[in-house]
Amino acid sequence: MPHARLTPGLTAGLITALFATSVFAAPSASPDLTRRQPQIDKIVAEISPKRIEAYVRKLVSFETRHTMSDTVSETRGIGAARRWIKAELERCGAGTALQVAYDSHVAPVSARISRPTEIVNVVATLPGTQEASKARLYVVSGHYDSRNTDVMDATGKSPGANDDASGTAAVMEMACVMAKHKFDATLVFMAVAAEEQGLLGAGHWARQARANNLNVAGMFTNDIIGSSRADDGRVDNKQVRLFSQSVPATKEMSEAVRALLATGGENDSLSRQLARHTKEQGERYVKGFKVSVIHRHDRYLRGGDHMPFLEQGYAALRFTEPNEDFAHQHQNLRTEDGKVYGDLIEFVDFDYTAKVAKVNAATLASLALAPAAPQQVKVRTDKLTNDTTLVWQANAEPDVAGYRIVWRETTAAGWQGSKLVGNVNEATIKLSKDNYFFGVQAVDKEGNVSVATYPLPLR
Ligand SMILES: [Zn+2]
Repeated sequence: MPHARLTPGLTAGLITALFATSVFAAPSASPDLTRRQPQIDKIVAEISPKRIEAYVRKLVSFETRHTMSDTVSETRGIGAARRWIKAELERCGAGTALQVAYDSHVAPVSARISRPTEIVNVVATLPGTQEASKARLYVVSGHYDSRNTDVMDATGKSPGANDDASGTAAVMEMACVMAKHKFDATLVFMAVAAEEQGLLGAGHWARQARANNLNVAGMFTNDIIGSSRADDGRVDNKQVRLFSQSVPATKEMSEAVRALLATGGENDSLSRQLARHTKEQGERYVKGFKVSVIHRHDRYLRGGDHMPFLEQGYAALRFTEPNEDFAHQHQNLRTEDGKVYGDLIEFVDFDYTAKVAKVNAATLASLALAPAAPQQVKVRTDKLTNDTTLVWQANAEPDVAGYRIVWRETTAAGWQGSKLVGNVNEATIKLSKDNYFFGVQAVDKEGNVSVATYPLPLR
């Protein structure tokens, strides 16, 4: 976000503090943070509602994509669906660095799995091109399985056009468009299975990621992003909800959570920082479209494929349309008293789905072009003062130009002020650490800005 846009949110006292008592010399070669990245504009422009429609139509044509449905037929069931997804990603990724593979495991019998079942994710990886960044991953997913009223019904027609062919199509379109571009960090595009049977596909990938110590710096699930029409008929095609967790509701509190809570930082969890970045970048590159951040990990008592990532300690968010129509999800196809039930393609708005895909793509591109969020960010507490001194570890990327301090009042949701401080590892802001929340971002020479890191007390 350009610095100028932050200014209206500042209080008079804050402005006085900034301009009257700034302790910084201007950095020698400040990157231009107001500069739009032409590559991101190009990606956003290339995302096509027409191709998204074609993907949704094809996914719906398999009649059911229930996780325990037919895997042998070439035209019906989840097996045909995943073979088509893989072939399509291979086709559109040909001549690019995109690597397409299955990620498969056998799920044992459980509450929603009546016989041992092979769960197969289709995973397309676009490796990062900067040595110091390529081990940093960003994951985006949609689930390609579908369901009926009875979650165990593996044969009845369940088109799953919105839930979640919309998310799967968005992810496929992003993979195809973004594969033609280069990023510092690695992007992972996933069509996962068995969301409806207990988040089994995403769960398997997330556990493997943790076991292999993968640096998943952010994960986004797109689930029910296809309709702009609410159950009462209202149309809202100007926003998408972004669900973002504070701290997990676990029995035992981890040290990381304890450290956050000890300084009032429950609104500065990894997922909340990622949500702030997503709102800024998404709204910057997709004009007239709002990213409505919800301070909750999901809709009330519901869940999705970001949850296994949260359980593994990764930052993970969920995109969902603003007003769901529950007659068109998890429902057998039927008409009752003139009302049509079922997740049919006629209720999907492809232009809307494309807007959500554009928000995802702009965010993923901005993350994968930018440096990592700074590490070891601390606030000095050795002397009692009314200002704030932050220290941090230097980033490893060769293209880092410097760092930016951001802040907001303790009751504000998004950053209100910022200051570029040059290529240093310590900076003092003339604002009280008691009255503001701070973050430190790394900035590269092109003006790509990282997610902010919350400072813990230096001890
Ligand atoms: Zn779903």
